[in-house]
Amino acid sequence: MDWRFCPRCGTSLAFVGSGAERHASCGDCGFWKYDNPLPTTIGLICRGRSILLLRRAQPPAIGAWDTVGGFLTAGETAEQNLVREAREEIGCPVLDLRPVGSYASVYGDTGMATVGMAFTCRIPDDAVITLSAENTEHRWFAWDEIPDLAFTDVKAAVRDLVAGTG
Ligand SMILES: [Zn+2]
Repeated sequence: MDWRFCPRCGTSLAFVGSGAERHASCGDCGFWKYDNPLPTTIGLICRGRSILLLRRAQPPAIGAWDTVGGFLTAGETAEQNLVREAREEIGCPVLDLRPVGSYASVYGDTGMATVGMAFTCRIPDDAVITLSAENTEHRWFAWDEIPDLAFTDVKAAVRDLVAGTG
């Protein structure tokens, strides 16, 4: 975390503590912030031994293949988030969510720490995929043909899925 000024009052921030206890602290208004990761979802949408991937249209990692999923908003569970993100990104429901694990990562070159919560899931057999402006292309990839992926957590979740440990 490299913040310099308090986002609440604009005073220069101090950093106190070390390791996991290190946090920003404002001596003026009392604001504090630990470097907690932002929670995200990773939707491992499977059909047999294939996975649905999307090609990113927006930075970071523009042009890279990625899974359905996104950042949680306040009051939302990971499961609710993934259902919402799927409706937004591919225009169809996701069913049968099953947790695979959680994966630490960094959001591209932004420096923002994230933790991706991965689920296997499926879309209905008759689902029609309609992409949003967030992605340019979708494709089903067989597990032995999976391309390089956008983020560390997505790579690790897909690796676990294919390895059968998920
Ligand atoms: Zn302050």
